[in-house]
Amino acid sequence: MQDSFLHKGKRKILVTYLREKAGIADEHVLKAMNEVPRHLFIESIFEDYAYEDRAFPIAARQTISHPSTVAEQTQLLELSAGEKVLEIGTGSGYQTAVLVAMNALVYTIERQKDLYDFSTEKLKELHLRPKFQVFGDGFAGLPTFAPFDKILVTCGAEMLPVQLLHQLKIGGMMVIPLGKTDEQILTRFTKKSDKEFEKEEFGAYKFVPMLGSTSK
Ligand code: SAH
Repeated sequence: MQDSFLHKGKRKILVTYLREKAGIADEHVLKAMNEVPRHLFIESIFEDYAYEDRAFPIAARQTISHPSTVAEQTQLLELSAGEKVLEIGTGSGYQTAVLVAMNALVYTIERQKDLYDFSTEKLKELHLRPKFQVFGDGFAGLPTFAPFDKILVTCGAEMLPVQLLHQLKIGGMMVIPLGKTDEQILTRFTKKSDKEFEKEEFGAYKFVPMLGSTSK
């Protein structure tokens, strides 16, 4: 599959929708989403709908999030170029690609082997490689590479994985969907000091669950 003028045109329309209808104002996020070919991260049968605001099934019964959700989560990170970002849940690799396109130094973890293999290959092929990509359990984070400027969790956690908060720099932020399986609240924690965090909430979403250990 190629990135044709038709795909580029549809992507522009999606970005206009994100700006005008979905409340996305961060031009860096919009620019990255205008660049990353989302249709190459999903199965070819969904190609015609790749630039609609829809989620699709990917391998291992997981989901590539709605473009508006990816945009919202990324916007909440308030990213600057060169920041170190830990992503939990690489999935298809689409969100990773958006972060890489924003010139973040991305460290990403996926617990499903099929998705780890797919996303590694895809991000290499598109020259949107993260700094570090690993097959493993994101609950532990990546203490060897900590601290991070930002942490993004792309799966819904029933309980706050506190050890991830310890891997943030002071002034850093973690964006995470928090709650039971049928609905999570998109939540942002800002680390004010070693012990103090500001907590903000940004509405209800439905993510696949954050699960422990790994799956071959
Ligand atoms: N950002 C992804 C969304 C994938 S859905 C995309 O754009 O495609 C969330 C992903 O989180 C799934 O692939 C799931 O396998 C993964 N996940 C769930 N629990 C995890 C954990 N503990 N560690 C790492 N990845 C996890």
